Amino acid sequence: MFRKNDILELDIEEINNLGAGVGHKDGMVIFVKGAVSGDRVKAKIIKVDKKYCVARLEQLLVASRERSSEVFCKAPEACGGCIYRHILYEHECEMKRRYVMGAFLRAGLSDVEVEPLRSTKQDKGYRNKAQYPFAMVGGRVKVGFYAGKTHKVMPCFSCTLQPEIFEKIAKFVCDFADEKRISVYDEQSGKGLLRHLYLRHGKASGEVMVCLVINGDKLPFEEEFSVRLRQTFPDVKSVMLNANRQKTSVILGREYRLLSGRSYIEDTLLGRRFRISPAAFYQVNHDGAELLYRIAAEQVALGPDETLLDLYCGIGTIGLCLASPRTHLVGVEIVPSAVECARENAKANGFGNAEFFCGDAGDAENLIDQAIKRCGDPEKTAVVVDPPRKGLDAVLIDHLTAKGFPRIVYVSCDPDTLARDCARFRARGYRIGPVTPVDMFPKTGHCEGVVSLFKGL
Ligand code: SAH
Repeated sequence: MFRKNDILELDIEEINNLGAGVGHKDGMVIFVKGAVSGDRVKAKIIKVDKKYCVARLEQLLVASRERSSEVFCKAPEACGGCIYRHILYEHECEMKRRYVMGAFLRAGLSDVEVEPLRSTKQDKGYRNKAQYPFAMVGGRVKVGFYAGKTHKVMPCFSCTLQPEIFEKIAKFVCDFADEKRISVYDEQSGKGLLRHLYLRHGKASGEVMVCLVINGDKLPFEEEFSVRLRQTFPDVKSVMLNANRQKTSVILGREYRLLSGRSYIEDTLLGRRFRISPAAFYQVNHDGAELLYRIAAEQVALGPDETLLDLYCGIGTIGLCLASPRTHLVGVEIVPSAVECARENAKANGFGNAEFFCGDAGDAENLIDQAIKRCGDPEKTAVVVDPPRKGLDAVLIDHLTAKGFPRIVYVSCDPDTLARDCARFRARGYRIGPVTPVDMFPKTGHCEGVVSLFKGL
């Protein structure tokens, strides 16, 4: 059996979705961080568990052909975001497809077809959102990223996944805080003001939102801050404060206050206009979202007389992109300001027959029932669901299947919960169509997926 500090030679067979190389020796699974499928490595065991060991890469004996020689990012590796930064993108795509297949296998659905992964192939500058923690380093205000699984801030202004303007704005904000001696929040003591810098960018519109998350109500020199910020960066259309006085690792508090401009930014997706409030979800990769929605649109294939029920609708993007302005559209979303945006977005895009309900989509008896009643005949209603990573509430699946909707298109950001939920749909008499994996987050371990569920096995 293995013991800590043992050194072993190992062939790496695959990379898991946490970015660790995986090999087998004497019936044990061995995870080696930084190793790549196809590598032969010398590794040192650092942790022994019943079924697996964790080892550190000591020496690369034979380098895999899947390794990339490109220096992808200047950020310290400990930032933990781009776990696939050291492998070729084609290989990453294959790994992600296998990850989706593995999820369906584990859920007892090995017969479900998993199509080749779709991607925009744009692996740089695609993120339109950042939430940087502030830190005091050497007497200066900095922003950075939490080192993987910790709350230690690694100072870093640039991230290859983000647009360049984020780095410039972050520097501006830190310089301003230094100049005005504005304090930085300390997690241990709960004292200090600046907690996070929250940025959003509309890729198509160019508009930027700057929101400072502070441990208080007021930012010193806030008027001067917004004026100078907007003079320096004319694309900044919204400057907001978010108050978070709780001792919590949750980034955003509940209250927002507008400092300058509008309380939202605008962007377009597939030719439709959207306003985005700071508390509302907005797909983090613009071009990736357009691809995802196109795939969902193909699967929904909405007929002219059909109603579209968009569950977990956010600011209404899926429904408004997939339907035509004449469609009867019913949306459900839990965040009130997102629902307000959805209503405005429907108007701005000429949808005269759209209604949105605010509440928990898992509240099947009340809220969903009301929304479903508004849809009319289930036979003439297509359903799209796009839940967060934890997937669908079992009660919601029971309810949707009991109503007998002929087809439900599931857009997912977590292959494991997607597979679990598909198994539940099958158990209630629904056929599972082919799964299309979609890579919205190149270089990271995330993978989206779209699948249609049809009534009748
Ligand atoms: N379809 C949208 C949003 C998808 S993200 C888009 O493509 O932009 C998932 C959304 O579900 C978020 O807007 C989140 O606020 C919402 N949500 C999370 N839990 C929910 C619940 N229990 N009921 C309804 N909506 C929920």
